[in-house]
Amino acid sequence: MPLEDHIGDICRKARMQTNTPIAAVAAAAGVEESALDVWETDGDLATGVNVAALAELLNLNVAKAAAVAEGWEPEPVDVGQWGFLRMITTTGSFDVNSFVIWDDATRETAVFDTGWFADDIFQLAEAEGLKMEHLFITHMHGDHVAAMGEVRKQWPAIQLHTNNSGAPEKNRVQEGKATMVGGLRITPQLTPGHAEDGVTYVIEDWPGNAPAVAVVGDAIFAGSMGKDFSTPELAQRKVREEILSLPPETLICSGHGPLTTVGEELEYNPFF
Ligand SMILES: [Zn+2]
Repeated sequence: MPLEDHIGDICRKARMQTNTPIAAVAAAAGVEESALDVWETDGDLATGVNVAALAELLNLNVAKAAAVAEGWEPEPVDVGQWGFLRMITTTGSFDVNSFVIWDDATRETAVFDTGWFADDIFQLAEAEGLKMEHLFITHMHGDHVAAMGEVRKQWPAIQLHTNNSGAPEKNRVQEGKATMVGGLRITPQLTPGHAEDGVTYVIEDWPGNAPAVAVVGDAIFAGSMGKDFSTPELAQRKVREEILSLPPETLICSGHGPLTTVGEELEYNPFF
């Protein structure tokens, strides 16, 4: 799976998040404004954009931006370590990832976001004999919850967890208050920024001592982050405090793009 954002996307996000005038950015990049716009769209390095000067101006880490520009991707993760974790990617106007976890012994199951369509979730549940009990929402953006109606119709007793202020009180997460899914412990940590209702779910106590898993929604992507043009400092601070503070081997499950780890993002994500 390719990165959600190439180096041009990253610089556009950083330009908008830092509210830097496009003329200043083009000057630092050493290209015309029109060429900068093309480059932000295609990320093509052959256009001679000075990535180091751009990164410096936009408060991105220069060495990490260079690594992404040169084609860094996170090491492929062997999800076999977690055994009872699946990533399901659905395609609407673009791709979005949902995640399903379960307890092997009891088959108690949780799904994180529904994506555009629920068919693959239904198929997995059927094939594995899963007891779907919990629906955790990372944030209520349309791509992440498009199939919520289908899922709740299929499993009317499913417990919904969200930080959305429009949800009934019984469905609102309490930061730090864990839910058990069989032996798996799921702890919500609030990560507002990209979305006001953003939540990261940290899943621990995996069989075989597999590392923790963080389902982060769009708070952070491999090599980038979800856009936040109104509260970018809050978004970055929350990612640092609630996600990048986890042990380096922690698996990061993002709403878009490939799986990554805390260690990889500390080393290569230009926003951090
Ligand atoms: Zn989103």
